[in-house]
Amino acid sequence: MSESERAYLNAHSPLSLCVDPDWWPFEVIDANGQHDGIAADLLALVAQRQGLQFKLHPTRTWEESLAASQAGQCRLMSFLNRTPERERWLVFTEPLLTDPNVLITREEHPFIADLGQLKGATIALPRGTAMMERLRTDYPQLQFIGTDSETEALQMVSERRADLTLRSLIVAAHTIKHNGWFNLKIAGQVPGYDNQLRMGVLKSETTLRDLLNKGIATLTAQDRARAVDRHVAINVVSKVGLDHAVVRWLLALLALLGVVAVTSLLWMRRLQQLNAQLRTLSQTDALTGLLNRHGLEGSFALDVERAQRFGRPLSVLMFDIDHFKRINDSQGHLMGDKVLAELGRLMQSLVRQVDTVCRWGGEEFVVICHETSAEQAVQQAERLLQQVRTHAFPHQGPLTVSAGVATVRAGDSVDSLLARADEALYRAKRGGRDRVCAEAAEPSGVLP
Ligand code: GH3
Ligand code: MG
Ligand code: MG
Repeated sequence: MSESERAYLNAHSPLSLCVDPDWWPFEVIDANGQHDGIAADLLALVAQRQGLQFKLHPTRTWEESLAASQAGQCRLMSFLNRTPERERWLVFTEPLLTDPNVLITREEHPFIADLGQLKGATIALPRGTAMMERLRTDYPQLQFIGTDSETEALQMVSERRADLTLRSLIVAAHTIKHNGWFNLKIAGQVPGYDNQLRMGVLKSETTLRDLLNKGIATLTAQDRARAVDRHVAINVVSKVGLDHAVVRWLLALLALLGVVAVTSLLWMRRLQQLNAQLRTLSQTDALTGLLNRHGLEGSFALDVERAQRFGRPLSVLMFDIDHFKRINDSQGHLMGDKVLAELGRLMQSLVRQVDTVCRWGGEEFVVICHETSAEQAVQQAERLLQQVRTHAFPHQGPLTVSAGVATVRAGDSVDSLLARADEALYRAKRGGRDRVCAEAAEPSGVLP
C-alpha cells in the first residue's frame, strides 16, 4: 500500500457503504442490520485482503441508497452496474461478479432471438435500475412497466400482466424456485446485457477505487463460485418428485454457467424453436394472425390437385370489405387495422375447423372450403355476410363485405380457380356490394 493510500485510510476509515437492502441473493440488510448475500461475501474478502473496514449506512430501499450516495453520505456503493447516469457522481471498480441477464417469459412464448423485433411487448422491470435505463434507450419500441421489486417483475410475467422481464439469471432462478412460478422460462439473452457488478465510489475518491481494485484483483473464480453457491442453494436432492420446470431451470442455470454439453443441448432446442418460429412468422399475417398468401400457396395447390383426382368438391370464397377506405379516411388507419383484425377473428370463428381462412391481401380474405359444392359454398358465404352485418366491430358504423365464390373444375389450377372467384367478387361489387355472386356457369365438366 502506498503512502497516500495509507493516509487516505487513516483519514476515512471505516468506509461508509450503501447497499441494496432487498436484492437477495445478491445482497440484503438482514434482520440484525447486517449486510448479507453474495456481495457481502465478496466484499468481506476484498476488505480482509486489503485491510479495509466498511461501515454500513442503513437504508430501507435501493432508491434511498442511491439518494444517500448522491448526497455524499456513503463513499461506496457495494454492487451495481455502471451506467452513464451513475457515472455523473460515481467512478467504478472492476467487476466483483459477472452474471448473465436473461429474458424471462411464460412457457407459451417462443424463443426471442432479437428483442428489437418485439413491437409493443410489455416488459416489467424494477424502477430506477440500470437495466431500465439501458433498455429504454436501446429498445424504445417496448412498453415499460415499473415495479417496486425484482419479485414483482417476475410475478407480473407469471400472472400475465406483462409479457416479459429481463433479470439476472441468479436472482431469477432463486425467485422462481422460491415462489413456485414454474410457468416461467428463459426465452433468450440480450447480447451485451450481462450484469457487471462493480463497486461504485464517489467521483472524488479515486484513491479508494484503486485500493479496491487491488483487492478485487485477488478474487479467484473459486472465490466467486463459493459466494454464489453459498446463497443460491439449489437443493435438488431433497425433492422427491422433481418438477420438470425445476429441471429446466437447473439445466438453464448450468448451461449459462458454462457447462458445455448442456449448453449445446439447449442451443439445439433453441435453434429448433427459432426455426419453427421463422416458419410460422413468414406464413402468418401479423395483423390478423391468419395465414398469409404465402402460407396458403403450397397446401392450396395440393388441395386443388387432390379434389380433381378424387372427384371431390372444393370451393373458394373470396371476400373484400365494402368501402373500407372510408373507415381509414374518417377514423384513421389504426382503426382500420382493428377492424381488419376483428374481421379475421370473426371469419376464423365462423368456418369449420377443416376450412382455411387466409388474409389474401389488404382487406381481402380467402376461405377454402373442403368437401363443399358450389351451392353449399354460396350458402356458407351468405351466412358469413349475415354475421358480418350484425357483428359489433370496433369502429363506429356498419360494415359489410362482398363475396365471390368458385368451385374446382377439371383442368383448374389455383390461379384459374381464384381468377373466377375474383371475377365473381367483381360482379358482387358492381351489383351493389354486400352480396354474394357465384362464378359464371360452365358449359360442361363441373366436378363432381
Ligand atoms: P370497395 O372495395 O367497396 O370498392 O371499396 P374500398 O374502399 O374497400 O376500396 P379498395 O378495395 O380499393 O380499397 C381498400 C383499402 O384498404 C385501400 C387501403 O388503404 C386499405 N388497406 C389495405 N390494407 C390495409 C391495412 O392493412 N390496414 C388498413 N388500415 N387499411 C388497409
Ligand atoms: Mg380491395
Ligand atoms: Mg374493399
